[in-house]
Amino acid sequence: MVRTGRCYCGAVCYELDDDSARDFSVCYCEACKYASSSHTMNLRTDSDKIKITKGTPKSFIDTKTLSGKPMDRKFCGDCGNALFSEPSSLPGKAFLKVGTLDDKSGLNLLVEVFCSNALQPFEPMPQGKHPQLTLGAGSPAFEA
Ligand SMILES: [Zn+2]
Ligand SMILES: [Zn+2]
Repeated sequence: MVRTGRCYCGAVCYELDDDSARDFSVCYCEACKYASSSHTMNLRTDSDKIKITKGTPKSFIDTKTLSGKPMDRKFCGDCGNALFSEPSSLPGKAFLKVGTLDDKSGLNLLVEVFCSNALQPFEPMPQGKHPQLTLGAGSPAFEA
């Protein structure tokens, strides 16, 4: 199954051809806080499974990551929407922003990272459960 996605304004569109990409992480790192005001949800996939079908994402090499390892952050130069990131620590891998997928169904929360950096009072729930998060209008709240 090929999933489609786009940035908020639609200037950059992509296809994700990775049926095995189901597990996503919730990230509370500083960059995600700036990008989203709190945290991001990131689907792990391979860089070559993401095919840009419209526009060209801009690239920001983030050298201020909490891990200390550079991250290539791809985003739309028009609306500023973060699309996916490529970590130098995991060559060939990409973390796709779940919110940019047109169809967000069938995904599983695998892990939360940089929890100690979470914005208070929205700290991670015990045992990784996030009943307050849903995967979009019409989709059921998921359980970890
Ligand atoms: Zn855009
Ligand atoms: Zn992050």
